[in-house]
Order: sequence, then C-alpha cells, then structure tokens
Amino acid sequence: MARRRPEGGKVPPTALILDEIEEGLSRRQLELDPAHLELDEGEFRLVGSLQVGFRINRSAQTYQIEGQLHGRVAGECARCLEPVEQDLEAPLQLLLQRHQLSGDEREAAGEDEDVELLAPGAKQVDLKERLREAVLLELPIRMYCREDCKGLCVQCGHNLNTGACACAAGQSDSRWSALRDLKLS
Ligand SMILES: [Zn+2]
Ligand SMILES: [Zn+2]
Repeated sequence: MARRRPEGGKVPPTALILDEIEEGLSRRQLELDPAHLELDEGEFRLVGSLQVGFRINRSAQTYQIEGQLHGRVAGECARCLEPVEQDLEAPLQLLLQRHQLSGDEREAAGEDEDVELLAPGAKQVDLKERLREAVLLELPIRMYCREDCKGLCVQCGHNLNTGACACAAGQSDSRWSALRDLKLS
C-alpha cells in the first residue's frame, strides 16, 4: 500500500511519520535492503533482506518502540575459511518524546541513550541510525561453519573437516622432538 508522503520530501524507508501513528498500540513491519543502512561490516556482510518488526505504543507525544531485527550474516569460518552464514537478531528499543521538556526531564532523558527527544514540530523520525547501531552491536566477532570445525592443517592447508592429511603423522613427531629439545637444553 502506498504511503502518503509529505510534499516535496522523499521519505526514507526507515522513517516514521509521527502523525500517522495512531494512539495506543500499533505494529509495523519493515523489509529493508541492508545496503540502506550503510554498514561498514568489516569481515562480514548482511545478505538478503533485513526484517524489522516492532510495535509502537503511542500516548500523545510519547512513542514507545520495541521490536526486533532479523537478518542473515555471511562471511568465512574463522578456522577453515569456508563460507558460512548465520542468523542475526538484534533488539530495537527506543522512546521518542515530542514535546517541550523541562530542564530536569531533559537532563534525565539525555542520560538514557534509548530516549530520543524530538522538537515539538517534528514530522518524522528516521530510525536508520538506530537500526544501524543495533545491527553493528550484534555482528559476530567470529563465525564457525560448525562448533567442532577442525580447521586447516597448518602445514599443507588441507581442510581437516574432510579427513586427515598426510602431514598428521609428521606433525606429532615434530611436537615430540620439540619436547625432547626442551628437556635437553
Ligand atoms: Zn570451519
Ligand atoms: Zn597437512
């Protein structure tokens, strides 16, 4: 369904039009191209679409947003370097306040990073930065093709998940000889 857009401005897919949100509880579902978040993911990248499901609880000029992001991350196994993919889930939590706050309220809200203060005349809020941060926080540091991935042989590079390589015997020999050398010295 087409969304009504304010004249002249282009609404980003991650934007919420504040006055379109009804009072009370409502649900939203966004499907995003991860490229839209301009993530600098490093070793891993998001593949497929990013699903963002959340509910908004609006009470006058306060919008409580709670939801979840679902995506897929692709990269390499840290041990055997084979391509891997895994699910990425990230929570989304945010409180928007669109009204004039007293000094004390402002101070309290300023300390809470889940609270965003909006100017009384604000028309829309772009969740892009929030979504971006949520994804970055949940990106794995390492991925493995499986928990017990045996990795690569340090000598010949053979993927040990597919069986032992010819160096297996030689490797243990050299370990023993290293021990022997230690004892002698
Ligand atoms: Zn692996
Ligand atoms: Zn080997």
